[in-house]
Formats: sequence, structure tokens, C-alpha cells
Amino acid sequence: MAFDPTRGIQDFLVFGEYGDVNPSITDSSTFTFKDPQTMNEIFDHEIEGCFLYSRHWNPINRHLSEALAAMEGSEMALVTASGMGAISSTTLQICRAGDEIVASHTIYGGTYAFFKNFLPKLGITVKFVDMTNLDEVKAAITENTKMLYGESVSNPLLEVANIPELSRIAKAHNLTLVIDNTFSPMIISPIQWGADVVIHSMTKYINGTSDCVAGCVCSSSEFIHALTDINAGASMLLGPVLDSYRAASILKNLHSLHIRMQKHSENALFLAEHLQKLGVTVFYPGLTSHPQHDLMNQLKNEGFGYSGMLAIDAKDDETADQLMKLMQEEKVGYLAVSLGYFKTLFSSPSHSTSSEIPKEEQEEIGLSGGLVRMSVGLDHNIQLSFDRIHKCLKNIGLV
Ligand code: PLP
Repeated sequence: MAFDPTRGIQDFLVFGEYGDVNPSITDSSTFTFKDPQTMNEIFDHEIEGCFLYSRHWNPINRHLSEALAAMEGSEMALVTASGMGAISSTTLQICRAGDEIVASHTIYGGTYAFFKNFLPKLGITVKFVDMTNLDEVKAAITENTKMLYGESVSNPLLEVANIPELSRIAKAHNLTLVIDNTFSPMIISPIQWGADVVIHSMTKYINGTSDCVAGCVCSSSEFIHALTDINAGASMLLGPVLDSYRAASILKNLHSLHIRMQKHSENALFLAEHLQKLGVTVFYPGLTSHPQHDLMNQLKNEGFGYSGMLAIDAKDDETADQLMKLMQEEKVGYLAVSLGYFKTLFSSPSHSTSSEIPKEEQEEIGLSGGLVRMSVGLDHNIQLSFDRIHKCLKNIGLV
């Protein structure tokens, strides 16, 4: 399948108010109307080019949303104040009390906590399954299931979701397939493989500078209109609105995403291959040893590699801590959660971004306390970074 996630962004030329090469920032929460009649009308239905109030839509958020829709090949998109804002609004738009969700058991810890601890308060229940096992997915579906939820490349174990097959299952049971594509923007285009809704934490690769929190939902016009409906839309009524200054800066960064993804992936593959040669256990979908390597090859768009995320097994919690401390001292990068930054970031998911998942469940899904997740940066001299990691590994006796 040849889909070019850069094409729509390349065509994206929006002039600012005075012909500026960047669209003007909307520095207003509210908008005037020449006549009260039009204001009355917009409460009934959206009017093209007409804005009411910034929690609903504003021009710069609309521009960023259009660029994201072009990237994912969706009819529309909506930007939100965080990835969690996108996930919670989407979920609450689709599900109501009594409904069930079937979700992958390897997902971001915040999403897991929202599903496990928060949704039951609203009468929505979630069954966690091994999403790489399609029979398990099918077996979990009941007549109350409304949504299938997974991550294209999962956090933190880097499992790859079989989106075409999940889409077939979703269609057969009339479910909405929601895919979080935070780890693989441009690399995988889930809508092209049959997903109904794609979510990003734009805090990560899409923005790429670790200076703000933001999210987005890409889907059909019908779904985005439902989310923003003045009377019943989850995003309109819960209000996770992205600040327009941030929307403007993210839009500028989006234009270099394709180059950044290539470099993140190139560096991650280099480290993954070299670390594996040293005898380290490495989880990376670009390695032939990865269980979903062939699937990843089938799903990925040409030219962006296998993502900048990899994980290594440092055996136990203590060794993982020592390794991360040393890597920071050796200037490999920062000991910090999050990902998609130009510098390498590393953390121990078991004690941070996945700590919401109880220890027994972590063990069940193969998430060991010794796992170190790395978001590989844009280092020009990746050999130097590898040499530094090698030195750290030797120092703690892991190689
Ligand atoms: N999805 C994934 C895969 C994530 O890693 C994260 C955050 O780490 C989120 C969603 C939540 O995004 P945010 O922190 O922007 O709310």
C-alpha cells in the first residue's frame, strides 16, 4: 500500500493575516458577529469559516487539525490540550454506562489507569487482552462491546498491532477501532489500514521539542463533528482545548516531522543492532528477532524506518537504575519520562510510565523491572552515543 503521510503537509500553504508565511495566531477566546442572526444559526449548525468561541474551534487550531488530518489521511482532525484529553474525549464520545471496551494490555500507563480506575465509575468496563492474539480479542467481545483500543506500536514493549485484522474484527462486530499512534507518526497510518479513530499525544514526536503537552484525534467528519457538537460533544463539553500559541508552534514543528522520524529511526536501528550484537536483549520492531518484524514491514510507510523507541532488558530494577544514572552522567541523554525529544530520553517504565499497572499484571505481560525504555534522539554522531552506552554497560557488568 503506498500512502504518503507527507504529501498533504507539503501541499499545506496557509497565509497569515498579512500574507505571513505562518498562519496568524488566534489571540482571542471569542469572535464577533455582524448580525445576531448568524450567531443564532451557528448554535444550530457549523457555518464554514465562521468561529464562535475558542473552546469550540478557532482558526489556528483548525489549521493544525487540517494538517494532521492530511498526515493521517483522515477526513478531519481535532487538536486537544493533551494526549489524555484526546483519549478521554474519544472514549466518552463512543461509550456510555453499560458499554464495554476491549483494550490491549500493553498500553500507556495513564490510559490503562483511565480505563481501569476511572471508567468503572461511569459504568463502563474494560477487558484487557493480548492484542497480538486475535482469538483472545474475539473471545473478549460481547454484545455490549463498543470499542477496540490499542497502540500501533505499544508502550513500552513495542508490540505492533495487526491493524488490518483488528479492523476486520471491529467491522464484523460493529465496533469502533481506536488506535493510539503516538510512537509511530508517519511510519504507520492506521486509518489507511481500517482504523476508525487515530489518537496522538502530540507532546511526543509530533511536537518534538518537549516544551508542551498536546494531543489530537483524527477520524471521520462525522466523529469530529460529534466530538465538537455544542450540545453533546465530549470535547466541547469536557473542554480539553489546546492553547492557540501552542497550536501555532506545533504546526511549525510538524513541517520537520518527516526528517526527524527518519533520523530517530536510523539512530534507533543503529543502537538496537549494535546492542544486540553485544548480547543485550533488545526490543525493537526493526530487528528480525522482534516477533512482529514482518507485520511492521507490511504496515510501515516507506522512508521513515521503525521508530526511535527501543527497550533493553537490564535484568533487574537495581541494574536498570545504575545504567540510567551512568548514561546520564556519560551524556547519552536525560533520565526522564516522555519521548520524541531531539535528545535521547530513558526511563524505567515499570517504575514510571507503566507504574499504574499492578506488579502481577506487569509480570504477566512481560514487563520486567529491569526494562529500560529509550527514546533515541537526533544525535549526529550515533557511534559516539553507542560507545558511551557500551562503556556504561561494561561498568555495571551487563556485557
Ligand atoms: N499515549 C501514549 C502512547 C503515551 O506515551 C502518552 C504519554 O506518555 C499518552 C498517550 C498521553 O499523552 P499526554 O501526556 O500528552 O496526555
